[in-house]
Amino acid sequence: MNIHEYQGKEILRKYGVTTPRGFPCFSVDEAVDAAKKLGGNVWVVKAQIHAGGRGKGGGVKVAKSLDEVRKYASEILGMTLVTHQTGPEGRLVKRLLIEEGADIQKEYYVGMVVDRATQRVALMASSEGGMNIEDVARDTPELIHKVFIDPVKGLTDAEGEDIARKIGMPEAAVKETCKFMQGLYKAFVETDASLAEINPLIRTGDNRVIALDAKFNFDSNAMYRHPEIQEYRDLDEENPDEIQASKFDLTYISLDGNIGCMVNGAGLAMATMDIIKLYGGAPANFLDVGGGATTEKVTEAFKIMLSNPDVKAILVNIFGGIMRCDVIAEGIVAAAKQVSLKVPLVVRLEGTNVDQGKEILAKSGLPIISASGMADAAQKAVNAAKGN
Ligand code: ADP
Ligand code: MG
Repeated sequence: MNIHEYQGKEILRKYGVTTPRGFPCFSVDEAVDAAKKLGGNVWVVKAQIHAGGRGKGGGVKVAKSLDEVRKYASEILGMTLVTHQTGPEGRLVKRLLIEEGADIQKEYYVGMVVDRATQRVALMASSEGGMNIEDVARDTPELIHKVFIDPVKGLTDAEGEDIARKIGMPEAAVKETCKFMQGLYKAFVETDASLAEINPLIRTGDNRVIALDAKFNFDSNAMYRHPEIQEYRDLDEENPDEIQASKFDLTYISLDGNIGCMVNGAGLAMATMDIIKLYGGAPANFLDVGGGATTEKVTEAFKIMLSNPDVKAILVNIFGGIMRCDVIAEGIVAAAKQVSLKVPLVVRLEGTNVDQGKEILAKSGLPIISASGMADAAQKAVNAAKGN
Protein backbone atom coordinates (compact mmCIF):
# COMPACT_ATOMS: atom_id res chain seq x y z
CA MET A 1 0.00 0.00 0.00
CA ASN A 2 1.22 3.49 -0.91
CA ILE A 3 0.54 6.82 0.73
CA HIS A 4 1.11 10.50 -0.16
CA GLU A 5 4.19 12.51 0.74
CA TYR A 6 2.32 14.70 3.26
CA GLN A 7 1.03 11.59 5.01
CA GLY A 8 4.52 10.12 5.14
CA LYS A 9 5.72 13.35 6.72
CA GLU A 10 2.95 13.13 9.34
CA ILE A 11 4.31 9.69 10.29
CA LEU A 12 7.89 10.97 10.36
CA ARG A 13 6.98 13.81 12.73
CA LYS A 14 5.48 11.29 15.17
CA TYR A 15 8.89 9.63 15.28
CA GLY A 16 10.82 12.83 15.83
CA VAL A 17 12.13 13.09 12.27
CA THR A 18 12.28 16.73 11.20
CA THR A 19 10.25 17.78 8.15
CA PRO A 20 9.30 21.22 6.86
CA ARG A 21 6.00 22.51 8.25
CA GLY A 22 3.20 22.17 5.74
CA PHE A 23 -0.49 21.54 5.07
CA PRO A 24 -2.32 19.36 2.56
CA CYS A 25 -4.78 21.34 0.40
CA PHE A 26 -7.60 20.42 -1.95
CA SER A 27 -8.28 23.86 -3.51
CA VAL A 28 -6.40 26.97 -4.59
CA ASP A 29 -7.94 29.10 -1.83
CA GLU A 30 -6.94 26.54 0.76
CA ALA A 31 -3.40 26.63 -0.64
CA VAL A 32 -3.16 30.41 -0.25
CA ASP A 33 -4.58 30.21 3.28
CA ALA A 34 -2.05 27.49 4.12
CA ALA A 35 0.80 29.72 2.94
CA LYS A 36 -0.53 32.60 5.08
CA LYS A 37 -0.74 30.29 8.10
CA LEU A 38 2.83 29.10 7.54
CA GLY A 39 4.15 32.67 7.29
CA GLY A 40 7.61 33.42 5.95
CA ASN A 41 8.28 34.41 2.36
CA VAL A 42 9.16 31.21 0.47
CA TRP A 43 6.72 28.36 0.01
CA VAL A 44 6.79 25.20 -2.04
CA VAL A 45 3.70 24.03 -3.91
CA LYS A 46 3.85 20.25 -4.34
CA ALA A 47 1.57 17.94 -6.29
CA GLN A 48 0.50 14.93 -4.20
CA ILE A 49 0.32 11.79 -6.31
CA HIS A 50 1.58 8.28 -5.62
CA ALA A 51 4.60 8.67 -7.89
CA GLY A 52 8.01 10.27 -7.70
CA GLY A 53 9.82 12.48 -10.17
CA ARG A 54 7.25 15.24 -9.65
CA GLY A 55 9.84 18.00 -9.61
CA LYS A 56 11.08 17.22 -13.12
CA GLY A 57 7.50 16.86 -14.37
CA GLY A 58 6.54 20.36 -13.19
CA GLY A 59 4.70 19.24 -10.06
CA VAL A 60 6.93 21.00 -7.50
CA LYS A 61 7.26 24.81 -7.65
CA VAL A 62 8.93 27.32 -5.35
CA ALA A 63 6.76 30.41 -4.74
CA LYS A 64 8.18 33.72 -3.50
CA SER A 65 4.89 35.53 -2.91
CA LEU A 66 1.28 34.67 -2.09
CA ASP A 67 0.39 35.56 -5.68
CA GLU A 68 2.85 32.96 -6.87
CA VAL A 69 1.40 30.41 -4.46
CA ARG A 70 -2.01 31.09 -6.03
CA LYS A 71 -0.58 30.90 -9.55
CA TYR A 72 1.30 27.61 -9.03
CA ALA A 73 -1.50 26.02 -7.02
CA SER A 74 -3.98 26.72 -9.82
CA GLU A 75 -1.54 25.39 -12.42
CA ILE A 76 -0.72 22.19 -10.57
CA LEU A 77 -4.12 21.33 -9.12
CA GLY A 78 -6.06 19.53 -11.84
CA MET A 79 -3.05 19.03 -14.10
CA THR A 80 -2.21 15.62 -15.50
CA LEU A 81 1.27 15.13 -14.18
CA VAL A 82 3.54 12.88 -16.20
CA THR A 83 6.71 11.59 -14.52
CA HIS A 84 8.99 8.63 -15.16
CA GLN A 85 6.92 6.70 -12.61
CA THR A 86 3.39 7.49 -13.83
CA GLY A 87 3.59 6.06 -17.34
CA PRO A 88 2.72 8.22 -20.36
CA GLU A 89 -0.92 8.58 -19.29
CA GLY A 90 0.13 10.56 -16.18
CA ARG A 91 -1.89 11.20 -13.01
CA LEU A 92 -4.53 13.79 -12.30
CA VAL A 93 -3.43 15.98 -9.38
CA LYS A 94 -6.21 16.32 -6.80
CA ARG A 95 -4.24 17.26 -3.72
CA LEU A 96 -1.40 19.66 -2.95
CA LEU A 97 1.08 20.05 -0.15
CA ILE A 98 1.98 23.64 0.68
CA GLU A 99 5.08 23.77 2.80
CA GLU A 100 7.69 26.21 3.94
CA GLY A 101 10.68 26.63 1.68
CA ALA A 102 13.82 25.07 3.13
CA ASP A 103 17.32 26.52 3.04
CA ILE A 104 19.09 23.75 1.12
CA GLN A 105 22.85 23.54 1.60
CA LYS A 106 23.09 20.02 0.19
CA GLU A 107 20.74 17.17 -0.78
CA TYR A 108 21.35 13.55 0.31
CA TYR A 109 19.54 10.24 -0.08
CA VAL A 110 18.34 7.84 2.63
CA GLY A 111 16.24 4.77 1.97
CA MET A 112 15.16 1.61 3.76
CA VAL A 113 13.85 -1.66 2.37
CA VAL A 114 13.30 -5.15 3.69
CA ASP A 115 16.23 -7.20 2.42
CA ARG A 116 15.24 -10.81 1.91
CA ALA A 117 18.76 -12.20 1.60
CA THR A 118 19.88 -10.99 5.04
CA GLN A 119 16.35 -10.98 6.51
CA ARG A 120 17.03 -7.50 7.82
CA VAL A 121 16.08 -3.95 7.07
CA ALA A 122 18.70 -2.50 4.75
CA LEU A 123 19.56 1.15 5.23
CA MET A 124 20.98 2.82 2.12
CA ALA A 125 22.42 6.30 2.13
CA SER A 126 24.18 8.44 -0.40
CA SER A 127 25.66 11.86 -0.91
CA GLU A 128 23.86 11.88 -4.27
CA GLY A 129 20.42 13.08 -3.16
CA GLY A 130 17.62 14.68 -5.13
CA MET A 131 18.21 12.56 -8.22
CA ASN A 132 17.02 9.20 -9.43
CA ILE A 133 18.69 6.69 -7.10
CA GLU A 134 18.45 3.95 -9.75
CA ASP A 135 20.82 6.04 -11.89
CA VAL A 136 23.25 6.44 -8.99
CA ALA A 137 23.13 2.67 -8.38
CA ARG A 138 23.93 2.03 -12.04
CA ASP A 139 26.59 4.69 -12.66
CA THR A 140 28.31 5.19 -9.29
CA PRO A 141 27.33 2.30 -7.01
CA GLU A 142 30.30 3.09 -4.73
CA LEU A 143 28.43 6.22 -3.64
CA ILE A 144 25.65 4.18 -2.05
CA HIS A 145 26.47 3.00 1.49
CA LYS A 146 24.55 0.24 3.23
CA VAL A 147 23.90 -1.08 6.71
CA PHE A 148 21.91 -4.25 7.35
CA ILE A 149 20.27 -3.45 10.64
CA ASP A 150 20.33 -6.03 13.44
CA PRO A 151 16.68 -6.42 14.51
CA VAL A 152 17.64 -6.89 18.16
CA LYS A 153 20.05 -3.95 18.51
CA GLY A 154 18.36 -1.64 16.04
CA LEU A 155 20.49 0.98 14.27
CA THR A 156 23.32 1.68 16.71
CA ASP A 157 24.88 5.10 17.24
CA ALA A 158 28.17 3.77 15.87
CA GLU A 159 26.53 2.53 12.65
CA GLY A 160 24.41 5.66 12.22
CA GLU A 161 27.33 8.02 12.77
CA ASP A 162 29.59 5.99 10.50
CA ILE A 163 27.17 6.09 7.58
CA ALA A 164 26.54 9.82 8.17
CA ARG A 165 30.29 10.43 7.75
CA LYS A 166 30.46 8.18 4.71
CA ILE A 167 27.87 10.27 2.88
CA GLY A 168 29.92 13.35 3.65
CA MET A 169 28.00 14.95 6.50
CA PRO A 170 30.15 17.55 8.26
CA GLU A 171 30.97 16.68 11.88
CA ALA A 172 28.46 19.28 13.15
CA ALA A 173 25.59 17.34 11.52
CA VAL A 174 26.69 13.75 12.18
CA LYS A 175 24.83 13.19 15.47
CA GLU A 176 21.62 14.68 14.11
CA THR A 177 21.84 12.60 10.93
CA CYS A 178 22.24 9.48 13.08
CA LYS A 179 19.15 10.42 15.15
CA PHE A 180 17.28 11.06 11.89
CA MET A 181 18.05 7.57 10.61
CA GLN A 182 17.20 5.98 13.95
CA GLY A 183 13.83 7.76 13.93
CA LEU A 184 13.22 6.63 10.37
CA TYR A 185 14.11 3.05 11.31
CA LYS A 186 11.69 3.08 14.25
CA ALA A 187 8.94 4.46 12.00
CA PHE A 188 9.73 1.80 9.40
CA VAL A 189 9.55 -1.13 11.83
CA GLU A 190 6.58 0.04 13.86
CA THR A 191 4.40 0.78 10.82
CA ASP A 192 5.28 -2.47 8.99
CA ALA A 193 6.71 -0.52 6.07
CA SER A 194 8.28 -2.36 3.17
CA LEU A 195 10.02 0.73 1.78
CA ALA A 196 10.81 4.20 3.07
CA GLU A 197 12.67 6.69 0.96
CA ILE A 198 13.76 10.21 1.87
CA ASN A 199 15.01 11.77 -1.33
CA PRO A 200 16.21 14.33 -0.65
CA LEU A 201 17.19 14.51 2.95
CA ILE A 202 18.78 17.94 3.23
CA ARG A 203 21.30 19.74 5.33
CA THR A 204 20.52 23.40 5.90
CA GLY A 205 22.97 26.28 6.07
CA ASP A 206 22.97 25.94 9.87
CA ASN A 207 23.54 22.15 9.71
CA ARG A 208 20.03 20.97 10.52
CA VAL A 209 18.92 17.74 8.86
CA ILE A 210 15.41 17.67 7.31
CA ALA A 211 13.30 15.22 5.30
CA LEU A 212 12.25 17.19 2.21
CA ASP A 213 10.45 14.30 0.53
CA ALA A 214 8.92 11.13 1.98
CA LYS A 215 7.86 7.97 0.24
CA PHE A 216 6.47 4.98 2.11
CA ASN A 217 5.17 1.60 1.00
CA PHE A 218 3.55 -0.71 3.52
CA ASP A 219 3.10 -4.45 3.70
CA SER A 220 -0.58 -4.82 2.80
CA ASN A 221 -0.79 -8.07 4.75
CA ALA A 222 0.03 -6.19 7.95
CA MET A 223 -2.40 -3.32 7.46
CA TYR A 224 -5.08 -5.01 9.58
CA ARG A 225 -3.07 -3.95 12.61
CA HIS A 226 -2.62 -0.34 11.48
CA PRO A 227 -6.06 1.26 11.15
CA GLU A 228 -4.37 4.68 11.34
CA ILE A 229 -2.40 3.91 8.18
CA GLN A 230 -5.39 2.40 6.39
CA GLU A 231 -7.00 5.82 6.88
CA TYR A 232 -4.33 7.18 4.54
CA ARG A 233 -5.44 4.99 1.64
CA ASP A 234 -6.38 7.16 -1.36
CA LEU A 235 -8.56 5.14 -3.72
CA ASP A 236 -8.19 7.83 -6.43
CA GLU A 237 -4.58 6.72 -6.75
CA GLU A 238 -5.38 3.04 -7.18
CA ASN A 239 -6.49 1.06 -10.20
CA PRO A 240 -10.33 0.73 -10.03
CA ASP A 241 -10.20 -2.91 -11.15
CA GLU A 242 -7.72 -3.73 -8.43
CA ILE A 243 -9.93 -2.03 -5.82
CA GLN A 244 -12.94 -4.04 -7.00
CA ALA A 245 -10.91 -7.26 -6.95
CA SER A 246 -9.68 -6.61 -3.41
CA LYS A 247 -13.32 -6.41 -2.22
CA PHE A 248 -13.76 -10.01 -3.32
CA ASP A 249 -10.42 -11.16 -1.96
CA LEU A 250 -9.05 -11.74 -5.45
CA THR A 251 -5.40 -11.04 -6.07
CA TYR A 252 -5.52 -8.99 -9.25
CA ILE A 253 -2.96 -6.83 -11.00
CA SER A 254 -3.78 -5.30 -14.35
CA LEU A 255 -1.20 -5.52 -17.13
CA ASP A 256 -1.12 -4.22 -20.68
CA GLY A 257 -1.64 -7.36 -22.80
CA ASN A 258 -4.88 -8.75 -24.27
CA ILE A 259 -5.31 -12.23 -22.74
CA GLY A 260 -7.29 -12.25 -19.51
CA CYS A 261 -5.98 -14.95 -17.16
CA MET A 262 -7.93 -16.62 -14.37
CA VAL A 263 -5.78 -19.00 -12.39
CA ASN A 264 -5.71 -20.53 -8.92
CA GLY A 265 -2.49 -20.08 -7.01
CA ALA A 266 0.14 -17.40 -7.50
CA GLY A 267 2.79 -19.82 -8.79
CA LEU A 268 0.51 -21.24 -11.45
CA ALA A 269 -0.56 -17.71 -12.35
CA MET A 270 3.08 -16.68 -12.89
CA ALA A 271 3.75 -19.82 -14.94
CA THR A 272 0.64 -19.14 -17.03
CA MET A 273 1.77 -15.62 -17.79
CA ASP A 274 5.23 -16.92 -18.73
CA ILE A 275 3.90 -19.53 -21.12
CA ILE A 276 1.57 -17.03 -22.79
CA LYS A 277 4.63 -14.87 -23.43
CA LEU A 278 6.54 -17.90 -24.70
CA TYR A 279 3.91 -18.42 -27.39
CA GLY A 280 4.01 -14.78 -28.43
CA GLY A 281 1.02 -13.47 -26.48
CA ALA A 282 0.69 -10.95 -23.66
CA PRO A 283 -1.34 -11.34 -20.46
CA ALA A 284 -3.88 -8.61 -19.65
CA ASN A 285 -3.68 -9.32 -15.95
CA PHE A 286 -2.40 -11.42 -13.12
CA LEU A 287 -5.35 -12.98 -11.33
CA ASP A 288 -5.20 -15.52 -8.54
CA VAL A 289 -8.69 -16.63 -7.47
CA GLY A 290 -7.20 -18.49 -4.52
CA GLY A 291 -7.96 -21.90 -3.11
CA GLY A 292 -11.60 -21.46 -2.15
CA ALA A 293 -13.08 -19.86 -5.25
CA THR A 294 -16.89 -19.72 -5.16
CA THR A 295 -19.24 -19.07 -8.09
CA GLU A 296 -19.55 -15.52 -6.81
CA LYS A 297 -15.80 -15.01 -6.86
CA VAL A 298 -15.40 -16.55 -10.30
CA THR A 299 -18.22 -14.35 -11.65
CA GLU A 300 -16.62 -11.26 -10.20
CA ALA A 301 -13.27 -12.25 -11.67
CA PHE A 302 -14.88 -12.53 -15.13
CA LYS A 303 -16.55 -9.15 -14.75
CA ILE A 304 -13.30 -7.48 -13.82
CA MET A 305 -11.37 -9.08 -16.68
CA LEU A 306 -14.08 -8.19 -19.19
CA SER A 307 -14.31 -4.58 -18.04
CA ASN A 308 -10.93 -4.18 -19.75
CA PRO A 309 -11.70 -3.38 -23.42
CA ASP A 310 -8.29 -4.69 -24.47
CA VAL A 311 -9.13 -8.26 -23.48
CA LYS A 312 -9.55 -10.33 -26.64
CA ALA A 313 -9.53 -13.82 -25.09
CA ILE A 314 -9.72 -15.39 -21.64
CA LEU A 315 -7.65 -18.27 -20.42
CA VAL A 316 -8.86 -20.18 -17.36
CA ASN A 317 -6.10 -22.38 -16.01
CA ILE A 318 -7.14 -24.25 -12.88
CA PHE A 319 -5.43 -27.03 -11.03
CA GLY A 320 -7.97 -28.71 -8.78
CA GLY A 321 -6.23 -29.72 -5.60
CA ILE A 322 -8.29 -28.59 -2.63
CA MET A 323 -10.46 -26.92 -5.22
CA ARG A 324 -12.65 -29.34 -7.17
CA CYS A 325 -12.83 -29.02 -10.96
CA ASP A 326 -16.60 -29.58 -11.05
CA VAL A 327 -17.13 -26.63 -8.69
CA ILE A 328 -14.90 -24.46 -10.85
CA ALA A 329 -16.72 -25.60 -14.01
CA GLU A 330 -20.07 -24.71 -12.49
CA GLY A 331 -18.67 -21.32 -11.51
CA ILE A 332 -17.36 -20.71 -15.02
CA VAL A 333 -20.68 -21.64 -16.64
CA ALA A 334 -22.71 -19.48 -14.24
CA ALA A 335 -20.32 -16.57 -14.63
CA ALA A 336 -20.10 -16.81 -18.43
CA LYS A 337 -23.92 -16.73 -18.65
CA GLN A 338 -24.22 -13.79 -16.26
CA VAL A 339 -21.68 -11.60 -17.99
CA SER A 340 -22.71 -12.57 -21.54
CA LEU A 341 -19.26 -13.50 -22.61
CA LYS A 342 -18.27 -12.12 -26.03
CA VAL A 343 -14.63 -13.15 -26.26
CA PRO A 344 -13.27 -16.67 -26.76
CA LEU A 345 -12.81 -18.63 -23.57
CA VAL A 346 -10.08 -21.25 -23.32
CA VAL A 347 -10.29 -23.56 -20.32
CA ARG A 348 -7.71 -25.97 -18.99
CA LEU A 349 -8.74 -28.01 -15.98
CA GLU A 350 -6.69 -30.62 -14.21
CA GLY A 351 -6.95 -32.44 -10.92
CA THR A 352 -9.76 -33.52 -8.60
CA ASN A 353 -13.02 -34.35 -10.42
CA VAL A 354 -11.62 -33.21 -13.74
CA ASP A 355 -13.92 -35.47 -15.78
CA GLN A 356 -17.06 -34.14 -14.13
CA GLY A 357 -15.72 -30.64 -14.66
CA LYS A 358 -15.12 -31.19 -18.36
CA GLU A 359 -18.57 -32.72 -18.75
CA ILE A 360 -20.23 -29.70 -17.14
CA LEU A 361 -18.38 -27.39 -19.56
CA ALA A 362 -19.22 -29.55 -22.59
CA LYS A 363 -22.93 -29.69 -21.71
CA SER A 364 -23.18 -25.97 -20.98
CA GLY A 365 -23.61 -25.02 -24.62
CA LEU A 366 -21.07 -22.24 -24.17
CA PRO A 367 -18.47 -21.83 -26.92
CA ILE A 368 -15.66 -22.95 -24.68
CA ILE A 369 -12.36 -24.03 -26.22
CA SER A 370 -11.09 -26.76 -23.99
CA ALA A 371 -7.40 -27.44 -23.70
CA SER A 372 -5.25 -30.13 -22.22
CA GLY A 373 -1.98 -29.12 -20.65
CA MET A 374 -0.38 -25.71 -20.21
CA ALA A 375 1.24 -25.47 -23.64
CA ASP A 376 -1.94 -26.36 -25.51
CA ALA A 377 -3.94 -23.89 -23.40
CA ALA A 378 -1.50 -21.06 -23.96
CA GLN A 379 -1.26 -21.65 -27.71
CA LYS A 380 -5.05 -21.77 -28.04
CA ALA A 381 -5.42 -18.55 -26.02
CA VAL A 382 -2.78 -16.75 -28.07
CA ASN A 383 -4.47 -17.84 -31.32
CA ALA A 384 -7.92 -16.92 -30.04
CA ALA A 385 -6.71 -13.43 -29.05
CA LYS A 386 -5.40 -12.98 -32.59
CA GLY A 387 -8.90 -13.80 -33.89
CA ASN A 388 -7.89 -17.17 -35.33
P1 ADP B 1 10.02 14.47 -6.42
O1 ADP B 1 11.02 13.50 -5.84
O2 ADP B 1 8.70 13.81 -6.68
O3 ADP B 1 10.54 15.20 -7.60
P2 ADP B 1 10.59 16.17 -4.12
O4 ADP B 1 9.73 16.34 -2.93
O5 ADP B 1 11.83 15.37 -3.93
O6 ADP B 1 9.70 15.57 -5.31
O7 ADP B 1 10.95 17.62 -4.66
C1 ADP B 1 11.80 17.83 -5.77
C2 ADP B 1 12.84 18.89 -5.43
O8 ADP B 1 12.20 20.11 -5.06
C3 ADP B 1 13.72 18.53 -4.24
O9 ADP B 1 14.84 17.77 -4.63
C4 ADP B 1 14.12 19.89 -3.72
O10 ADP B 1 15.23 20.39 -4.44
C5 ADP B 1 12.91 20.76 -4.04
N1 ADP B 1 12.05 20.92 -2.84
C6 ADP B 1 11.08 20.08 -2.44
N2 ADP B 1 10.52 20.50 -1.28
C7 ADP B 1 11.15 21.63 -0.94
C8 ADP B 1 11.04 22.56 0.16
N3 ADP B 1 10.15 22.40 1.15
N4 ADP B 1 11.89 23.61 0.17
C9 ADP B 1 12.79 23.80 -0.82
N5 ADP B 1 12.94 22.98 -1.87
C10 ADP B 1 12.13 21.91 -1.95
MG1 MG C 1 12.02 13.25 -4.16
